[in-house]
Amino acid sequence: MKRAFFFFLLTAAFLISVTGCSSTPKADKRLQKYAPAASEDNCTLHWRGNVFKLHPNRQYAVFNGTPIQLPAAPHYGSDRIYTVTPGTLKNIIDPLMTGRYPRRSIRKILIDPGHGGHDAGAIGKLSKEKNLNFLLAKEIAFALQKAGFQVFMTRNNDTFIPLRTRVTMVKKCKADLFISVHHNSSKRNLAAAGIECFAFRTPRPEDTVLAAMIQTRLIGATGSINRGVKFANFAVLRGNPVPAVLIEAGFVSNAAEEKRLVNANFRRSAANAVAAAVKSYARK
Ligand SMILES: [Zn+2]
Repeated sequence: MKRAFFFFLLTAAFLISVTGCSSTPKADKRLQKYAPAASEDNCTLHWRGNVFKLHPNRQYAVFNGTPIQLPAAPHYGSDRIYTVTPGTLKNIIDPLMTGRYPRRSIRKILIDPGHGGHDAGAIGKLSKEKNLNFLLAKEIAFALQKAGFQVFMTRNNDTFIPLRTRVTMVKKCKADLFISVHHNSSKRNLAAAGIECFAFRTPRPEDTVLAAMIQTRLIGATGSINRGVKFANFAVLRGNPVPAVLIEAGFVSNAAEEKRLVNANFRRSAANAVAAAVKSYARK
């Protein structure tokens, strides 16, 4: 009798371990429209050829090959269900996957070369960030004008403009879109390299889509390392009334990358890529 009871316990424990405790990984019901395929390692979402890959409790996602640093990590716990925040779904996953976001006509664009005057920004061996920003911004302005847009600059020479003034200029010149141009630096990691594109920390769908389009085109045109789309609390993006992104075009702290950044050919390719992205964003 004792022995039979022991076997009963053993069988029950086995059944619980293969059924109850190890239910298969799933995505929460709001993600079901994307035919999710979930495993312990990731959860992939699908929509008309687009693929969005989530990782458990990590802010690192991937959309069609472009890294997306989510403002909040998807939750995956003992219930084995992938859950994203409402903001992640509405402002990042939905607009990227479906291509649906609030449209406005895009005619006037404000380009913002970061830093200037006494504020040099990052300093490399060959260059100062403020100058690289200005040269690339001018090239982007030229490419956008060629594409038929009316373009304004937050500064037209080497002067210091406060961050909030750059945002108030959007209304002053009635711009429909805002692009801030910067270059990166890392003192700790001299090997750090590549391009990244930022939208505001709590993005609107239109910011996310614009950032992803620009990032994808930039990587395609320059072959730089794809650091992806990120979300941050940057002053020029905060409270910006129009779709707004900030481009970090490369690292002046990386000797090999800086050599490319000071080259006019790199700037031309990057500028044409930004203009092509804005053109397709405006057309949609
Ligand atoms: Zn900067």
